Amino acid sequence: MVRVSDWSETSRIATLFTREHGKLRALAKGGRRLRSPFESSLDLLNHDRMVLIRKNSGGLHLLTEASQLGRFQGLARDYQALNGAYLVAELLGDWTEENDPHPVVFDAALGCLRDLDSGSWNPRDRVVVFELALLVDLGYRPEFGGCVGCGKKAEKGPAAFAFGSGGLVCRECRRDQRGWRELPEACWKLARDLVAALEAGRDGRTEFSEAAESARREVRPWLGEYLSWIRGRRPRLMGWQEE
Ligand SMILES: [Zn+2]
Repeated sequence: MVRVSDWSETSRIATLFTREHGKLRALAKGGRRLRSPFESSLDLLNHDRMVLIRKNSGGLHLLTEASQLGRFQGLARDYQALNGAYLVAELLGDWTEENDPHPVVFDAALGCLRDLDSGSWNPRDRVVVFELALLVDLGYRPEFGGCVGCGKKAEKGPAAFAFGSGGLVCRECRRDQRGWRELPEACWKLARDLVAALEAGRDGRTEFSEAAESARREVRPWLGEYLSWIRGRRPRLMGWQEE
């Protein structure tokens, strides 16, 4: 569940992010009444099993049954983790289309929420990993192998990341780019290694634990700017991550 809003005195509209069907909007009749068939499954950020009557005409689906698979109660105890979880929900809601399944994104989000809930690693770092997984799966994989303009191999030292081209650009090709940000070597190497870890089926924890604090700090605003560039607006909850 990534969003919920009131529909009437007794009903609510739930925006769900499902593994099989992607984002769906469903009407939950009686969803505001206590002891409804949905009990507390209509809370944001739960992991639920939902039974829906599908409407193929593009209208709202009808939610008939819901039961919880996982409640992330640890989030309530950690303000940072809660902020991270809300940012994940915002990105799922804004970056995906209805009825467009992205099981990789679903699994990445669920893994992220579980880690945020357990408090096993820094929430800001953990959300970075989710954001990179989202970008890769949706076709915006950041390229660090060489210049996206001329192919020249990335060398030692700081490098410019061009947002429009989604990758590093050399000094000459930089001139043709509208938006770019210079990244210190440790930062672009961390981002590169995190993408490689994700593609190898790992979660990036090792890469983060070996990275310098400065690289971890630099990677967040770069990623925030890249996400904002692609969507043409800044995620509302991004400020938390860049603090
Ligand atoms: Zn170049």
